[in-house]
Order: sequence, then C-alpha cells, then structure tokens
Amino acid sequence: MKMEHFLKNTKAEESHGCIIAQETTIMVVAHNLGFPRIGANRELKKAQESFWAGTISEAELIEVGRELRAKHWALQKNAGIAFAPVGDFAFYDHVLNVTALVGAVPPRHANASGSTADLKTYFSMARGDAGVPAQDMTKWFDTNYHYIVPEFADTTKFAIADESLFAQVSEALAAGLRPKPVLVGPFTYLYLGKEKSAGFARLSLLPALLEVYAAILDRLTLLGVEWVQLDEPALALDLTADKLELFASAYARLAKHGPKKLLATYFGDVSDHAALLKSLPVDGIHIDVVRAPAQLDSFLVDLPSTKVLSVGVVDGRNIWRNDIRASVALLQKASSSLGERLWVAPSCSLLHTPVDLANETKLDAEFRSWLAFSTQKLAEVSAIATALTSGEAAVASQLAESDAAVASRKSSVRVNNPEVRARIAQLPANSDARQSPYPVRAKAQAARLQLPRFPTTTIGSFPQTAEIRKARADFKKGTIPEALYVEKMKAEISLVVERQEAYGIDVFVHGEAERNDMVEYFGEQLAGFAFTENGWVQSYGSRCVKPPVIFGDVSRPKPMTVDWTTYAQSLTKKPMKGMLTGPVTVLQWSFVRVDIPRSETCLQLAVALRDEVADLEKAGIAVIQIDEPAIREGLPLRRKDYDAYLEWATRCFRVNASPVRDDTQIHTHMCYSEFNDILPAIAAMDADVITIETSRSDMELLTGFGTFAYPNDIGPGVYDIHSPRLPNLAEMLQLLEKAVAVIPAERLWVNPDCGLKTRKWPETENALTTMVAAARELRVKYPAA
Ligand code: GLN
Ligand code: ZN
Repeated sequence: MKMEHFLKNTKAEESHGCIIAQETTIMVVAHNLGFPRIGANRELKKAQESFWAGTISEAELIEVGRELRAKHWALQKNAGIAFAPVGDFAFYDHVLNVTALVGAVPPRHANASGSTADLKTYFSMARGDAGVPAQDMTKWFDTNYHYIVPEFADTTKFAIADESLFAQVSEALAAGLRPKPVLVGPFTYLYLGKEKSAGFARLSLLPALLEVYAAILDRLTLLGVEWVQLDEPALALDLTADKLELFASAYARLAKHGPKKLLATYFGDVSDHAALLKSLPVDGIHIDVVRAPAQLDSFLVDLPSTKVLSVGVVDGRNIWRNDIRASVALLQKASSSLGERLWVAPSCSLLHTPVDLANETKLDAEFRSWLAFSTQKLAEVSAIATALTSGEAAVASQLAESDAAVASRKSSVRVNNPEVRARIAQLPANSDARQSPYPVRAKAQAARLQLPRFPTTTIGSFPQTAEIRKARADFKKGTIPEALYVEKMKAEISLVVERQEAYGIDVFVHGEAERNDMVEYFGEQLAGFAFTENGWVQSYGSRCVKPPVIFGDVSRPKPMTVDWTTYAQSLTKKPMKGMLTGPVTVLQWSFVRVDIPRSETCLQLAVALRDEVADLEKAGIAVIQIDEPAIREGLPLRRKDYDAYLEWATRCFRVNASPVRDDTQIHTHMCYSEFNDILPAIAAMDADVITIETSRSDMELLTGFGTFAYPNDIGPGVYDIHSPRLPNLAEMLQLLEKAVAVIPAERLWVNPDCGLKTRKWPETENALTTMVAAARELRVKYPAA
C-alpha cells in the first residue's frame, strides 16, 4: 500500500464556481508498534544461547536475526500493516540497542576501538564478561519484560556508535518495504537510566543526547524513511512539571530533524498531557485506549489538522481476541473526524504477547476462538481499519468470527461458575482477618511450635536435580506410571528431610520437587486456567516465559499440596511448612481475563487457596507459607492508583491466609524488589513471619523494616541464592548483627534469600550448615530473657 493511495477516488466537481470534493474514500491506516523478536519457535533464543556457548559463529547469529526480521516484516505486510517496524528487533533488548546506538557504553565495557558498540561490547553490557559485571536489569514499566538499565555519569558522552538501525532500514528498503524505525524516545531513555556519579542528574544529559538523536533522525531522512516512531512510555508515569518541560523541549529541539515523527505513548492514561502533546512539533501521537479508553476524546478535540492520531485499540499485553465490532464502534467518531489521519494499532508493541496462535495444536476449538496472539492481532488491526474505511461489510467474516467468540465467552459454562460467584458474594465480612491479633497468635504459636530463638528455615525449594526434572517430564509425557512418579517424589522428599535434619534446620520444607514452576503447579490444578504449548513471551535476553491463561472463574476441585506435605511431615518431628503460591503472584504471572476486574479474579484465587490452607491445617500442618514475590510488581504506574491496588491485593492475601487457628503460623515470602515504599501494605498482610531477600542489598532493605517498626516476625535472607558464591560464617553473622540492630531479636528468623532450586547440593549443604552455625552463635550472644 502506497501513501498516495490513502486518499483515493477523489472526484472533483464544479459547483457554483468552486471545487468541492465529493465521494472521498479515505483510508484509515493499520500499523504496528513493534513485533516480538523471539520467533514463533524461539529461534532467537536458540541462536543466542548457541552463540554464547560458542557452538555458532557471530555471522550465524546475525543471519538468524536477519531471517527473523525478514519473516516478521513479510508477515506484517501480508496482514495489511502499512509500515515495517525497524528497531524492534534486538539481540538482547531494545533499550540496550539505544545504548549502543547513542554510544552510552559504560567505560568498563568499552572495547579496544573505543568508538563502536560491537556485538561483544553489546553482550558484555547485557551479561557481563570475564570480571566485568553486567549492567542492571529491571522491569519495563509494569510488564514482565526486563530491560538493561542504561548507566549515566557526568562523564557520559554520546555519539552514534552502532550502525545496526541504519543497516536494518536499508534491509527493509531493499525488501521493497516502507520502514518505520521505532526508537525509545530521548526522554524515556534517559529517564529509565540510572546515575553512576554523585551529585549529578541524568536528565542534564538531555541536550547532549538530543544532538545524537538529531543526527540519527537526519540519517534516517537521508535513507528515505517517511515516518519514525519515538516511544515515550515514560509519559504514563508521574512526572513533575519541570520534567514535562524538559520533555517538551526535547521535541522542540528535534523539530527540524528527520522524517515525520509519531510520538508513541502507552501503558496508561496521558490525557493530563493532551494539550502539551497536541502542541508539540511532531506529526502524530499514539495513545493506548486499551489501558485508558477514556482518553480518546481528549485527543480528538482540537487535534491540529496536520497531525495523525494513532489509536491503540488491540491489546498488546494480553492474548484475548479483540471484539472487532466494539473497536469499530469506539473509533467511528475518530474515523469520521480524522479520516486518513486516523491510524489503528495495537495498544503497545506486541513484544508482550506470544507470536502465533497457529502453533497451538492442542487447544479445543472453543477456547482457541477466544484467543489472538501477535500474528492474529495484526489481522485484527487491519480488519478494524478496513471496516472503518469501507464499512463493516468489507470484513463480514472477521466480524462474524469475532462476534461468535464474544458471545461464546460470555455464555460459556467454562467461564462462568455460579458457585464461585455465589461464594465470593457471600464471603463473610471477617474472612480477611485472623481470629486474634499478632501478639496473641505469637504466644499460641510459640507454645505449639517450641522453636529456639533465631529459628532457621529455608524458602521452599531444594536443588532440582536432572533426575527430578526427568521424572516430572516422564510423568507428564505419560512414559512412567503415576505410582513410580509418586515413589520418586517421595524418595526426594525423604532425602530433603534427612538433610535438613542433618543440617539442624528448625522449620522444614518438603523441597518442591514436584513443581516445575511455582505458578504453573497451582494453575494446572485449579479450574479456570488453561496452558498453551508455545505461548512464549520474552522476559529478558534469551529467557522466555509461558504464562498460564486465567480465562474463567477459579476454583479448586481438590487439595493440591496436602498429600506431599503430610507425607513430608510424617518423616520428622520438626514442623513442616505447607508451601503455597499466593493469589497476587499467581495473578501477576498469568495472562488474566479482562471481562471481570483483576481484583475479582484475585479474590477467586484467594478463596481457592484459602481452602488449601484450611485443609493443610486440618491435616496437622502447623506452619504454612504463602509466597507473594510478585506483590510489588502489580503496583500501578501512577502513585494515585497505589492505594486501591494495595488494598485489594493485601485483602486477597489475608482471605487466603485467615481460615486458620491462632496457633497455626502463616509465613509469606517476597523477593526481587524494593519493598520499603510499600511497608504499610506488607504489614497489612498480617503474616506471622515474612522472609525477604536482603543479602544482596547488604541488609539495606531491612533498615526500612526497622524504621517503619514492622510489627511481626522477619527473616532477612543471609544467603544470596542467585550467586554461586558462598558466604562464610563471619559474613552471615555480620548481616545478622545488622538485622539485630533494627529488629528485636525475638522476632528474627534466619534463612536464605529465596528458594534453592537453582543451586547444587554441595553449595546448599555448605550454605545451610553455615547458616545454622550462625543462628547458634546468635542464640548464645542474645539469649532469651
Ligand atoms: N517457595 C518458592 C521457592 O522456594 C519461592 C520462589 C520465589 O520466591 N520466587 O522456590
Ligand atoms: Zn523468592
């Protein structure tokens, strides 16, 4: 499709002496913000890992990248997408691509030539290199994608240092496509970075960075690029007026450079900035109306007649089929007022959805009809644009399919479970509270459990050996009978119990050998969940995840962990912890239905897991841990929305945890993030004990717990399970002394940072023996009164 065809069949007719346009067919543009780079069969992952392992050459890796781009561009073109996005491809991460492009390579990674960011430098920044630590990685907004955090210092200099973007533009042009380069915008790029020198603000680098962006844009013009997309998702965050001013100044600076600019916002409502965005010297604005449907109107009013409005109406963050009729209706007004200046798109880059539903061979027809992966989403975008251009009749079959899917989902008995709804509606008011406050419970638990001071425990998983993984895989494939599988798991449990006995641990775990993944394990046993074969999305680098799909009302057909836990308990006199994944974490790491609020699905999960807690207690289990490592990840992007989220998230946890007696001890576990800013919410969860990851931050995290005066028991991690390095006794004692300084000794536990499944047995043995020795020293130094 050529640009000049957007406006076609314009017949002019003479009337009263002036020319009037008549019967104008105006074409609404279908375009895409970015396509997943991993490949339908995770070709990129395989190539990256082979390259890192030295089994393929750099040239071979580069060739895999070229093939993937060519394939994805062709696929987009065939779907009726107007441009070929370029720059969405990355050998690790698209933010790191910008770091290479603008030459913001930290000195420790700089290569011999100094001026170019070659692939070796690139991977050194991403993954570290002999003795050179990698750059940090953190979550891309509220997605499960992680980007490499750019590092800035007062010495940072920018210059074009990588030619890949330009080469890929040429590649697309050579293939006869219309490339639309996609770049993280200068403001978001700096904003998401971190400062490596003191007394310096990274945004002060903006003028220097803009010089390079201007040069990049000029080069794109020279290559013949018509449009460039600059992604500024930072606009969906809380920004102070001075930041917004800087943001605006950036686009003023770039005004005279480059091709037409589409400024893309996503992940949230930017209507507060509508006036500003409309006034910027850019040629188009993209808004996300999946996350923030109400903002459409703010952009329709007074949109300058020279600007395009790109409306993200197909969900780029989820796997549900679009309701095409509803999307067309939503855009009708925009279409009649904007005509060809209306572009239709996914809400954000499709990076966050799996590649192609065609790769799913095992889904039943009904469930499958409810889904759309990236490839299908492009067809949806295209169908919506066509319907707006030529009327609904032009997409009659797509509309019929979409209507049928909407109707079948609405009425399906697999989605709607009246019993679950009734139970939620009738949940007693006190179901989110324990019987007594913590101090009363603590006494009852002390009497029942008889634990020493500084009790030692672990977080749940023990090393997952090749044999365990094989047994699970064989059982799943059906190549070993259930009885043999159970026998193998029980053997593992008894080994784990024996070893904890030998190390001298106080509160045991069964080791989680039966679990492949802490969310999948529960999802597979709960109603309302489905699993895909190939629904992979990139988490970071070569790591991909395959999130479960929560499509319907959630319920628990039968107990999920009770047999394993009671078997483990039967082998020891020490308390055995029941081990569950909490409702918020299950929600956070799944693709969640959008026909009811997330909070409601979370509550359904909480109620299902609540029954498991009750059953564990009934079976004699005295300590139950409910992991919520993802609770902080669920935080909304804007502060004003924090409270509402934390309110329902913590309530769901309490609903999960509260059916038990006072003398049953509830633990929770958190890791992966800073918790200091949500401490009141963590306290509101009212777990008897919280274990947290702290050893890497040198107990920094704990200072917050001290200052806030966290009221219940705490187990700060003393062993960084992410590192093969083993801490010695002195180091552990030093960490614990820091903890004793802020947490009363009688409320302190001793444990690793997280589960041990990625470690090997010899390290585990060493670390846990040292950990028990540390606890014993503390007991001598700080005896109970
Ligand atoms: N119980 C889990 C384990 O030990 C916790 C994992 C996590 O926090 N991510 O593996
Ligand atoms: Zn953890």
